[in-house]
Amino acid sequence: MSNAKDKRIKKLRKKRIWPSVLGLFLILLLFSILIFLALGVACLDVVQRKINQSSHRSDGIAGLYEEYNENNAEQIHASVLTYMDLEKEIATVAVTGKDGAQIWSSDGTYPDAGKMAEFERGESTLDSGIQMLIEEDAEQIFSDEGNTLVINSDIIGKLDLVSLFAQGEILSDSGEISLLQLKVWFAVPGDEWNVFVLNHIHVYASDLLMLIVTLVLFAIMIGIFAIYYIISFISVIVSMRRTDKIIYTDVVTGGDNWLYFVKKGTSLLKKNRGNRRKYAMIHLRMHKYRSFCTCFGVQEGEELLEKFYYALKKKLNHKEAMAYHENAEFGLLLYYTDKEQLAVRIEELRETLNGVLPGMKMYFCFGVCQVEPGQKDVEQLYNNALIACEIMGEDTENKIAFFDEEMNKQKLWERKVEDEMDRALANKEFKVYLQPKISAVEERLAGAEALVRWIHPTDGFIPPNKFIPIFENNGFILKLDDYMIEEVARQQAQWITEGRRIVPISVNVSRAHFTREDLAEHICSIVDKYKVPHNVIELELTESAFFDDKEVLLSTVKKLRDYGFPVSMDDFGAGYSSLNSLKELQIDVLKIDADFFRGENVEERGMLIVSEVIDLAKKLNMKIVAEGIESREQVDFLIEQECDLIQGYFFAKPMAVEEFVEKYKE
Ligand code: C2E
Ligand code: CA
Ligand code: CA
Repeated sequence: MSNAKDKRIKKLRKKRIWPSVLGLFLILLLFSILIFLALGVACLDVVQRKINQSSHRSDGIAGLYEEYNENNAEQIHASVLTYMDLEKEIATVAVTGKDGAQIWSSDGTYPDAGKMAEFERGESTLDSGIQMLIEEDAEQIFSDEGNTLVINSDIIGKLDLVSLFAQGEILSDSGEISLLQLKVWFAVPGDEWNVFVLNHIHVYASDLLMLIVTLVLFAIMIGIFAIYYIISFISVIVSMRRTDKIIYTDVVTGGDNWLYFVKKGTSLLKKNRGNRRKYAMIHLRMHKYRSFCTCFGVQEGEELLEKFYYALKKKLNHKEAMAYHENAEFGLLLYYTDKEQLAVRIEELRETLNGVLPGMKMYFCFGVCQVEPGQKDVEQLYNNALIACEIMGEDTENKIAFFDEEMNKQKLWERKVEDEMDRALANKEFKVYLQPKISAVEERLAGAEALVRWIHPTDGFIPPNKFIPIFENNGFILKLDDYMIEEVARQQAQWITEGRRIVPISVNVSRAHFTREDLAEHICSIVDKYKVPHNVIELELTESAFFDDKEVLLSTVKKLRDYGFPVSMDDFGAGYSSLNSLKELQIDVLKIDADFFRGENVEERGMLIVSEVIDLAKKLNMKIVAEGIESREQVDFLIEQECDLIQGYFFAKPMAVEEFVEKYKE
């Protein structure tokens, strides 16, 4: 799958979930922030009120001491104790003189006068562990234990309530739950003495009731939002699954499609850490599916594929994958123990497929690519499996082909050729080799065929069968043939200028050219650049071109001949029904394929056919060239049959132009 396609699909799946996730996240964040704020504000308010109350109590006690002297001391202390009994939150009261001497303390021990003085100077630690750190004019202090000292009630407004709140202790007190308890010291300065009051301030859950009610209402509101978002989140997930289903469902079989196969296959191979399992990619193709559709209809054909899919699927393990690809082809990723076991398994799959329509014989081919450790590219592996099948060819029904290194080398070679062909053409690495055609009667040079050779800067001499089929596949042959025609025209022009005797040179024109309607004009324009007479450049077309667009072929051949180019039919008799094409196609030269002179039965049947073909060609006014002639007997036979020209190793192999000039100087 291309990256762009991959991205588009990911986008399609991802895009819709994020707004919901983000929305839910924001709602929860907002919820937490608001709860914290509300809790903080409400608690601070409650604490503030409690502290205000306590400071009034401290003022009250200080007021009792306003009239203090030796005489009424006992009475005032008793009043304070009574007051303390009534106001349960007052823990301790202590009174010191301005000189620091202790006058009275409600529990009799604490704080002592000296400590109180230190306390005021900010030097002391009280028994309770209150750390005094009074700086000049400091008004409040927090101890390490979380207690708070307040010097005077009128500064309560300046309390750092946030810290106060944060340092409170949570405890349980006689059945009532106290959310927090604070100890607060108040020091009220009188004229003669200081009154110290230690208050235990309790904040109870009931104090926070309003807060809780508010919070619950608030939570309900937020909850509604959250539920809305959760529902929309779920619906997004459901619709995403539905989208997945659509994206990953095959329209022909209704099962997993190719996209899913690639995804699952890649993940299986990636997860196969340490290569615990050996995987094999299989390309499975049904032969003659089109014929099946022609006989039974496309609908039936697709139903058959669907049945194949489910029959195969049942045979697969969950750590394996399969999907329909196209044109009655399936991809399977199976694991196996060894090659024999894999072959047996494939055989079983074939039987399963054949069981789908009992009574009907069906043929399948299996291309197998054994996955090497580290290979994860499912499409590439499938391609290898497909190559293995293709190399077997169409006629090899019911075979299993294993992809091997040779095939891989072939692939790599193809890639190299494709990478380098443009450069090679620009650098003139393609060279014209000439193979002479000898007249049968005089045994004298009467023509030549231009055959291409690639003289590679590092790989050296490369014969055409190594690259022509590749160029025929990728279309580069069009450029190469143009180049060859031009080179031959240039060469002929040079020889004409040099005053040499020239013979017609034939150039191969691949069948790929016959898709362009102006082919004749195109060739003409190349040759005319060199002002060469057209009759010295012969064009060889293969018979197979006849099976493409017949109209274009016929009109092109006619135009070429009208322009004065001799046209020959190459490889006559090599595999196609040749005689029929001769009926419609008017050409000048017939090249009898080398196959006639090879193999068994050459003596009788081959020679009989050759003599008949020569006879027929003569009647149709064509010249005959016999190709691939290697022996004297063949030459003698051809002379006897009045064949016009002979081309073959018997006379000469294709050679470089310089060698050709040297050899045929005259
Ligand atoms: P072809 O056009 O049939 O060329 C004849 C082939 O037979 C040449 O192979 C030639 O070297 C070989 N041959 C000639 N005499 C004998 C013989 O006595 N014995 C044997 N065993 N072989 C003989 P080559 O040069 O390897 O070319 C192979 C094919 O590549 C050509 O077959 C042609 O189809 C293609 N080809 C070569 N050059 C070009 C080109 O420039 N353009 C196109 N389109 N095809 C080309
Ligand atoms: Ca040829
Ligand atoms: Ca030929």
